[in-house]
Amino acid sequence: MMFGWSLNPYMGCAHQCTFCYVRAFEKRADRPSDDRYGASIRVKTNVDEVLRRELARRSWKGETVAIGAATDPYQPAEGRYRLTRACLEVLAEAANPFAIITRSPLIVRDIDVLAEAARRASVSVTFSVPTLDEKIWRLTEPNTPPPRQRLRALRMLRDAGIEAGVGMAPILPGLSDKPELMADVVKAARDAGATSIWTNVLYLRPGTREHFLTYLARDWPELVPRYERLYRGRAYLGRAEIEPVRREVAELRHRFAVAEPAHAPRAQPVPPALSAPPTRRRPSPPRRSSAPRPPLATAPIQLSLDALAPTPISAPARRTLNRRSIVSAA
Ligand code: SF4
Repeated sequence: MMFGWSLNPYMGCAHQCTFCYVRAFEKRADRPSDDRYGASIRVKTNVDEVLRRELARRSWKGETVAIGAATDPYQPAEGRYRLTRACLEVLAEAANPFAIITRSPLIVRDIDVLAEAARRASVSVTFSVPTLDEKIWRLTEPNTPPPRQRLRALRMLRDAGIEAGVGMAPILPGLSDKPELMADVVKAARDAGATSIWTNVLYLRPGTREHFLTYLARDWPELVPRYERLYRGRAYLGRAEIEPVRREVAELRHRFAVAEPAHAPRAQPVPPALSAPPTRRRPSPPRRSSAPRPPLATAPIQLSLDALAPTPISAPARRTLNRRSIVSAA
């Protein structure tokens, strides 16, 4: 996902994926990138207020904002703080385009806001689903909801007229790059109504590299020599390794007719006034034991919002929008 501006209501991610590229940023910032990453998260409790101010600036040109490029905006803490939802309301009110990337079906809670925003500006959602393989998912994404729940959430968004696709990232050499596993994902994404599918292969920068290889040695020790050879002296693989994966996914997209018009209904444009004023609320104070629980989604998706709740740290934001131009694989 290419983008110019990013927004992250949280810092740190309780999903704790072994391959998370954010570990590299944490290491560079002199913060823990090992098992401690995601054990506590920072919560930008005033992020929606600051976002509203930033969007109101005369210099703001209404560019697309990417939400969730550095942490999952629908990680468990969002069930309590509802900051991502508050930001969506602000963006919808301003008719500002945005794109979300997530591994969580909690996003279905916000279908009402997403649908309203999609009537006023370009809105797209990408679900990260690198594999449907149970073992690979459990061992590399220890705290994320099951991939098939993400696809059920995708279906619900599509039924509400919201653009939603799948990011198969990161593909892990020797594991999720098997053609039959990639075909499973593309076919299931097509069946869920995905309007786009893209892919990216694992890259290992310092911080991510040590952590990922430690867990690779624990779970698939026979692959360690291959990874050491592949990633020797480099963080990113070359075209020789990446192109076959991209070609395979492109062929699968073609074979399963992804993004056929029948699967891609768009939300209809409506006049600029939102049907209801955005819900204004203050985030709950960061007290884990007594804070009120949010209502669970009415959708038939199992959500465990607080089960993984890490220690939250209040971190009021001074700025919310960061200028970036990178490819996200979160
Ligand atoms: S890869 Fe995404 S979901 Fe996983 S820990 Fe990193 S930010 Fe969270």
